[in-house]
Amino acid sequence: MSKIYKKDDLLTAEIVDMDAEGMGIGKVDGYTVFVKDSVVGDICLVKIMKAKKNYAYAHLEEIKVPSLFRIEPKCPRAKACGGCQLQAIGYEKQLEFKRDKVFNNLVRIGGFDSEYIKSIEETILGMEEPFRYRNKAQYPVGLNEKTGEIITGFYAGHSHSIIAVEDCVLGPEEYKDIIKIIKEWMKDSQIYPYNYDKKVDGIRHILLRKGFSTNEIMVCLVISKRNVIKDKNVDNLITMLNNYSKNIKSISISVNSENTNVIMGNSYETLWGEDTIEDYIGDLKFKISPLSFFQVNPYQTKRLYEKALEYASLTGGETVWDLYCGIGTISLFLAQKAGHVYGVEIIKEAIDDAKTNAKNNNLTNTTFMVGKAEEVLPEFYNKSSDTEAKSPDVIVVDPPRKGLDEACIETMIKMAPDRIVYVSCDSATLSRDLKLIADGGYKLEKWCACDQFPQTTHVETVVLMSRDKE
Ligand code: SAH
Repeated sequence: MSKIYKKDDLLTAEIVDMDAEGMGIGKVDGYTVFVKDSVVGDICLVKIMKAKKNYAYAHLEEIKVPSLFRIEPKCPRAKACGGCQLQAIGYEKQLEFKRDKVFNNLVRIGGFDSEYIKSIEETILGMEEPFRYRNKAQYPVGLNEKTGEIITGFYAGHSHSIIAVEDCVLGPEEYKDIIKIIKEWMKDSQIYPYNYDKKVDGIRHILLRKGFSTNEIMVCLVISKRNVIKDKNVDNLITMLNNYSKNIKSISISVNSENTNVIMGNSYETLWGEDTIEDYIGDLKFKISPLSFFQVNPYQTKRLYEKALEYASLTGGETVWDLYCGIGTISLFLAQKAGHVYGVEIIKEAIDDAKTNAKNNNLTNTTFMVGKAEEVLPEFYNKSSDTEAKSPDVIVVDPPRKGLDEACIETMIKMAPDRIVYVSCDSATLSRDLKLIADGGYKLEKWCACDQFPQTTHVETVVLMSRDKE
């Protein structure tokens, strides 16, 4: 039996694995220690913080022999910020970690045979340059209590204190300069950061978005009250930003006076320029407002959706459903090659955007419906007389982390499409759902992981299931 350890014990542990959140898992004589900020392959001195019978959480005191997979993080604040759990690990190893995470879930939770899963695997889609891929940043604005300086950055853990980050290495280079300009302008205009506790109205967040294909940049200031920014301040802000770059196409404000974690207000007001900026995913054009949803890594989104399209293997006349369609990105990708696409999404504003996007791209072979997939689909199946739509060729799903509802899966199986393409951001719920779909008479044909969010533990997966025809 292994020794029982207690709080404050110092041990030397070898990190042999990582958990799904990127935390190092160490072993000491068969006893397991979870060590934040350690990397698989490290040999380190750790101090027990909380000990249980079979495992403990421990603090990384000293790295005695660094792992071969360790690299110097690009961002000096990576550890404090916590947004990039994997920045201290080389990118090849990050991809291996993500691939293994999906693989293990398919085998352990999905119950699929490991040799079979290996035989139908496609290589994970990684990025050539795994930094500066995020097109959107939302910086909270605050004051450094000691110096009185305005700071922007990211919230530390789940708290309200801001870790000052001048240049987030996941975002475009320009954001650093724009943030600097806005801080200067705030100082000159005596506009303060919002502080709920001290009852100071002011700027809460700075939202920046960029169209990577068009280079268009949007700046939106989220403020706690409309009168925080006076007319006389506006011209100055516009001049400063215009002088910096001609790519800034839209400057707006959004008022959010609620004391909540929600960042944006319910509406926005354009101070200068356009209401929206444009970006492309493949050949599809999208208009993006401060409030609209848009994929944050458009390069990898394109690759992920191209893979989904490939798995759908459309020839031109097919009837397709796209459940959880958001602003219709996948639907429109499919509509370029399908007969008709039906999209279902719970958020009305997203469906409004999907319809506008369809129109802007001249894709008239689309129908979008607002509602829960697990309600809309069964209701359509039971009540509609549209036999074509009731027996589609392909169903594509892209649900949130919690995965599919059983009622949704049941109806999908009743509709008996030839192919089901499952796009997932959580391989655990994906694996759970695939098991049910397989029980309903479908065979897992192919799977491919895709790295939409390098430096973080997230991983997307696309899976093709085909109906067994015997
Ligand atoms: N494919 C989409 C993004 C999907 S993200 C795109 O390309 O934009 C998952 C989407 O599912 C979100 O838009 C979310 O609003 C929606 N959603 C969440 N629960 C839902 C439900 N029960 N029924 C339908 N849509 C839902």
